[in-house]
Amino acid sequence: MLSMYHVITPPPPVEDMKGVGPKLRDKLLELDIRNANDVLFQLPSGYENLSVMDLTEARHNDKVTVAGDIKTEPALAFFRGGKSRLTVFMEVNGMYVKVVFFNQPYLKDKLKVGGSARISGKFNLHKLEINAQRLIFDASGGFHVKYHLGGVMHSKTFSKIVAEVFEKCIFNYDLPEDLKQKYRLLSIREALWHLHFPKNPHDINEARRTIKFYELFIFQLQLMERRRQERVRNERYIVDYDVEALREFIDTLPFELTSDQKRSANEICRDLKQNISMHRLLQGDVGSGKTIVAGLASYAIRTIGEQTALMVPTEVLANQHYQSFMEIFDGRLNIAKLTGTTSRKEKMYIQEALREGEIDLIIGTHALIEDDVVFKRLSLIITDEQHRFGVNQRKRLNDKSYRKNVLYMTATPIPRTLSITTFGDMDISIIKEMPKGRKSVMTYWRRFDETDEVLDDLAGEISKGHSAYIVAPLIEESETLDLKNVQEIFQLFTDRFGSENVELVHGRMKPEEKAAGMKRFEAYEKPVLVSTTVIEVGINVPNATFMVIFNAERFGLSTLHQLRGRVGRSNKQSYCVLISDPKTENAKLRMDIMTSTTDGFELSERDLEMRGPGDYFGVRQSGLPQFKVADLAEDYRVLEHARMSAIDYAAKMEADG
Ligand code: ADP
Ligand code: MG
Repeated sequence: MLSMYHVITPPPPVEDMKGVGPKLRDKLLELDIRNANDVLFQLPSGYENLSVMDLTEARHNDKVTVAGDIKTEPALAFFRGGKSRLTVFMEVNGMYVKVVFFNQPYLKDKLKVGGSARISGKFNLHKLEINAQRLIFDASGGFHVKYHLGGVMHSKTFSKIVAEVFEKCIFNYDLPEDLKQKYRLLSIREALWHLHFPKNPHDINEARRTIKFYELFIFQLQLMERRRQERVRNERYIVDYDVEALREFIDTLPFELTSDQKRSANEICRDLKQNISMHRLLQGDVGSGKTIVAGLASYAIRTIGEQTALMVPTEVLANQHYQSFMEIFDGRLNIAKLTGTTSRKEKMYIQEALREGEIDLIIGTHALIEDDVVFKRLSLIITDEQHRFGVNQRKRLNDKSYRKNVLYMTATPIPRTLSITTFGDMDISIIKEMPKGRKSVMTYWRRFDETDEVLDDLAGEISKGHSAYIVAPLIEESETLDLKNVQEIFQLFTDRFGSENVELVHGRMKPEEKAAGMKRFEAYEKPVLVSTTVIEVGINVPNATFMVIFNAERFGLSTLHQLRGRVGRSNKQSYCVLISDPKTENAKLRMDIMTSTTDGFELSERDLEMRGPGDYFGVRQSGLPQFKVADLAEDYRVLEHARMSAIDYAAKMEADG
C-alpha cells in the first residue's frame, strides 16, 4: 500500500547522515525520527521572519527585524548572578534607537562603531528602544525556522541534518505530473525544501498547499486500497440465508417498512449473499427505524444458524436496544444482553450459551470484546455509533467473527460530501424517510419575553397527560449574566406547575441522583423535566410531546437537532420551542433553519455550509489519520479534489496494468 510520508525508498537511517553520531542518533530516536523520510516530514512548527523591515512602520511592542548603523561604542554592564546588559545606539531608518541585549555579553566584540548590524527584538516605540533578542550574522535574512524538538536538540542542529538529507538522497516519489500541472503544485521535493529553508511567505504557502494535497491524495488512495483489501472475495463470506423465512418474518411486522428501510435492507441482504464481506454504514435520524433494518439482518443470519453481535457504547443504549429487539422478535430470536453490570453468574451462563450457539443475537457494551466471550459462529457484527469505539476495540470484536460482515449504525446525519470522502472505505445506506404516521415536530422560535405564552401551551400538553423536556444551557456557564441558569428556569416551572410536577437533572448532580430523577420522569411520576443537555443521549419517553430549549442560540444546528429528536417519538403531534434573543445574524439564521426543516440531512448540509465540517470529524475521530499540514475540518474542498484525483489515478494505474 502507498504509505504516507515516504518519498525516499529505501530511506537511509539517520546515522548515515554526516554529523549524526550515536549520541545524536539516540536523541533523534527519542523524537521517533529514524530515517531520512522521518527527517523530511518533521516539519517546522513555525517561522520567524528575519527579513528587514522599516522601523518607521512598526507599532509599539511589535517584534521587529531591522538593519542600521552602529553609532556608539557598546557599553557592557554586569549584575549579580552573572547577568549582563549590553547597550548600543544605532541609526535605523533615520531614527536614533537604543538597542539593549540582555545576557549576551559576548556580542560586545561584534558591534563596532561605524559598522552595521541586523538585529531582531521587541520595539518600544515610546522609548525608541529595542529589546534585542538576536544579532543576525546571516546576511541573507529570510526566515528563521523553528522545530518542535522537545528540547532534545537545537533547531539549527536539526536544520543541518535536513540539509544533509536533501544533499544525499534521491527522492523517488512525487505527485503525478498531470496533477501537479492541474493544481499548480510544486514537486514534493521543492515543497519540502521551501518548508525547511524558506525564502519568503509565498513559497511557504505554496509548499504547504502542495503537502496538504499530497497528504489528502495519499489518504484517499489508502482508503480506496483498504476498501479493495476488505472486499476480498472469499466463498466463506457468502451468507446464504433463507429468503423465504425472512419474507415471512417481514410479513409479521406490525407495520409496513418505509421504502428507505426496504432499500437499506435490500442493500444489506445483497452484501450478505455476496462472496465479499460487508462494510456498510447505515445512517438515519433518530426514530427513522434503523433498528428494525439491523434486526432483519440478524434474522437473516439466524436462518443459517449463525450469530450476530450488536455493540453499543453505553449501558443505557444496550438496555434500549435490548428492549426494542425483544419487542420486534417476540421470541423468534434468542436474544441476550451483556454489559459491565451483568452479574457473574448471568455472565457465565451467557458465555456458555454463546459458545453453544444457543444465543442468536447478543447485545452489549465493551464487555463483548473480552477474551472470555467466545462465539460458536459469529457472522455479523453491528455497532451503534461506532465512532465512540476505538479502532482496537472494533478490531478485537471483528477478530471473533467468522464471516467478516460489519454493519455500522449512526444517528448523526453526515453530509454526503463528507461521508464519501471520509468514510470512503464503506458502503453507505441512508434512511431519510420517517415511518408513516409519524408527525414531524412543529418547531417555533420565541423571544424570552414570550416565555409566559410558551408556559400556557405547555400547560395544555400536560393536561393531556403528555410530558415535556425543558433544556437549559450548561450550569457551568451560568455565571454569565445573560444566561438563564438552570436553577432559575427550574424555579420558573415549579412556580407555575408545582414542584410535584417538575423534575430537575443537571450535570453537577451525583450519578445516582441523576438516574433517580430520570427514572421518575420516564415513569411519568413527574411530567416536566428541567435539565442541561445531559439528556442528549439515551432517554426514550415516547409520551413526551413538548420541548423547550432556552438560549437556543447557544447550540449548533446538529445539537439542536439531536435534542429535538427526544420528542416526536409517537404518533402524537409534538412541539419544540426555541427560546432565544439571538444577537448575531448567524444565530438568527440557525433559528430560522430549525423552524423550517426537521430533515437531519438537510440540517447537516446547512451546518456544513455555515460552520464548516469541524464537528463532523469528531464523528470519525478514531479512524482518521493525523496529518501534518492538512486539516480535514478546514480542507474538505481540497479533500474532494484529492478524492477525484485518487479515483482517476487508480483507474489509470489499473489500465496500465
Ligand atoms: P432508530 O433506531 O432509527 O432511532 P427505531 O428503529 O428505534 O429508530 O424506530 C423508532 C420506532 O419506530 C420504533 O418504535 C419502531 O418500532 C418504529 N418503526 C420502525 N419502522 C417503522 C415503520 N416502517 N412504520 C412504523 N413504525 C416503525
Ligand atoms: Mg457477505
